[in-house]
Amino acid sequence: MATTTHGNLTVSASGDAAERRLALAGRLDETVALVDHLGGWGAEVVVLETAGIQAINSLGIREWMHFVAGLNGGGARLVHEKCSEVLVEQMCFIPAVRAGGAVRSFHAPYYCQRCDLESSALIDVEIHGEGLRAMKAPGLPCPQCKGAMTLADVPERIFAFLVEH
Ligand SMILES: [Zn+2]
Repeated sequence: MATTTHGNLTVSASGDAAERRLALAGRLDETVALVDHLGGWGAEVVVLETAGIQAINSLGIREWMHFVAGLNGGGARLVHEKCSEVLVEQMCFIPAVRAGGAVRSFHAPYYCQRCDLESSALIDVEIHGEGLRAMKAPGLPCPQCKGAMTLADVPERIFAFLVEH
């Protein structure tokens, strides 16, 4: 695996021209230049793992959209995995952030009433897809007390990005 630094973001790349996995972590902002590296990262399938993206600003999301459009333009099929909450928020407002890619899993804010834990829960779309598209939040076990956690927001605000545009 090769890890490179791009301003406030690091990218760990693995895989080959059939399927490449890019794990991104840090801040997506004006310091980040991803488009220059498209040639080295192209593949038939590109899996974008974004759990580590903690903050995004408007210039950063613009760079991201150039980046995913460039991957698409190079013929890649995109898959989004473990999307961070801040990226999901952007996907809900701007379809081009998802760029036609399938979302396999993403993070959402969850809350456990029993032990007062707030947690960023990972939701698997292949398991919960039907309920999610009906705007029903899956019940998830609390990692601390094993009680039932509930979504800490309105489902429509979080899951809107799963509906095809
Ligand atoms: Zn709990």
